[in-house]
Amino acid sequence: MADAAVTLAEGFRGRIVVPGDAEYDRARGVWNAAVDRRPAVIAQCTGVADVLQAVAVAREHGLPAAVRGAGHSLAGLGTGEGAMLIDLSGLTGVRVDPERRTARAQPGVTWGGFDHETQAFGLAAPGAPYSAAGIAGTTLGGGIGWLARAYGLTCDNLVEADVVTAEGRLLTASAASHPELFAGLRGGGGNFGVVTSFTYRLHRVGPHVLCGALYLPGEALAETVAAVRDFMAQAPDGLTAACEFGRPRGVSELPAGEAAVRIGLCWAGRADRGREVVAPLRALPGVVADTVQTRPYTLWQQMLDTGRGPGAGVFGRSEFLSVLDGAAIDCLAEQVAALPSPDAHVQLAFLGGAVARVGAEDGAYTYRQAPYLLSAVGRWTTGPAEPQVAWVRRCWEAMRPFSSGGAYVNLMGLEGQGRVVEAYGLAKYERLVALKDRYDPGNLFRVNQNIRPSG
Ligand SMILES: Cc1cc2nc3c(=O)[nH]c(=O)nc-3n(C[C@H](O)[C@H](O)[C@H](O)COP(=O)(O)OP(=O)(O)OC[C@H]3O[C@@H](n4cnc5c(N)ncnc54)[C@H](O)[C@@H]3O)c2cc1C
Repeated sequence: MADAAVTLAEGFRGRIVVPGDAEYDRARGVWNAAVDRRPAVIAQCTGVADVLQAVAVAREHGLPAAVRGAGHSLAGLGTGEGAMLIDLSGLTGVRVDPERRTARAQPGVTWGGFDHETQAFGLAAPGAPYSAAGIAGTTLGGGIGWLARAYGLTCDNLVEADVVTAEGRLLTASAASHPELFAGLRGGGGNFGVVTSFTYRLHRVGPHVLCGALYLPGEALAETVAAVRDFMAQAPDGLTAACEFGRPRGVSELPAGEAAVRIGLCWAGRADRGREVVAPLRALPGVVADTVQTRPYTLWQQMLDTGRGPGAGVFGRSEFLSVLDGAAIDCLAEQVAALPSPDAHVQLAFLGGAVARVGAEDGAYTYRQAPYLLSAVGRWTTGPAEPQVAWVRRCWEAMRPFSSGGAYVNLMGLEGQGRVVEAYGLAKYERLVALKDRYDPGNLFRVNQNIRPSG
């Protein structure tokens, strides 16, 4: 596709990388090392003008446009076979307005970069709990993190976005301007254009927050999950919690190499009140290690970084759950007992709170009332992928009977069109198709969890 690269070069300020260039393999790579796709042209953009140019050339040459924020999609959607890869990862500016409590950020910013800037003012927007993940993909898919129950999803805190559409217009979308497009951006997974700027509402958080983890041996899983479930059903919204079932490293109180339960906690509020709130969880029978204390919010946002860097193959499935009864917990315990490797894990996030207070039709994100989100992830650096993939599939299939109906866009693999419909529910999916017809009828932006235009 040398022609497209030649056309792109006229007026493009960033770097253009094509197959055969020395940096091509590095430039096409994404966080999930199992993903091996070869874009036709990589357009490393320096700003909106470059994005406009790349979109125009992709359209003109009939190339699908793949868009990369920070390239941390589980499904590897930050790169695309035969595509014009619009790489925004070099755009990393953040401007905080402490008086208005807003932050405007470019699309290559990671949560580590965003939190660093906003925490200088004791402010934060709810983000993903992994510092290398991009704000762009996270926001466009929803965004579930340590402040979710207190302040909602990342997309609930988006107040404005600049978008380059498939036809090459730059629109500013907000509740007041192009409101349908704005709603589609909030969970619609990048289907409607290239977002070149995100403006967020910020909240007073930190710089220190009460947070930490409680560790219990795997044999306590059933009683622990039931107790956390009951506790979170009446917990104040300021508390967000998630359990992880895996084989944690470096916890000397746990038998090495065996499955264990980690309850991660984050309290958004005064630490003394938070200590009272979380006391019953800390007193659960079987807790062998307790790291709950006040610490910098930025540090807590990096808690999941260890062991989750790039360079490994990853396969995952997610499901919103409506039921977590004895049968569901027994089923979960069986899956955890069969973990295929030290890096495989299951996460169970407790939702509700501010997430559930947003109207079902307010944005593309769908499962507002689901109380739990389950995700199973297999990871390998050496050895075959197959045992990891097979275990994730078994785990997901076993837990499906307890589903609210669908998957979480940000934690999906490449699971087929039916599954994308399930991620939104049929009625909302059909409304999103109408929006796609309006903003991207030719499906230029299809390297994503694709909402297919009707034509
Ligand atoms: C270890 C790990 C843990 C995670 N934990 C969580 C979690 O707890 N909660 C949670 O909510 N998520 C979590 N995520 C998921 C993460 O939020 C998503 O993978 C997110 O998509 C990453 O954003 P990115 O910009 O790096 O993605 P990319 O791979 O760059 O892009 C992802 C998708 O968004 C589209 N896109 C990206 N930028 C733009 C743009 N500017 N305009 C239009 N479309 C765009 C892409 O085309 C692609 O389809 C986790 C991810 C990892 C790797």
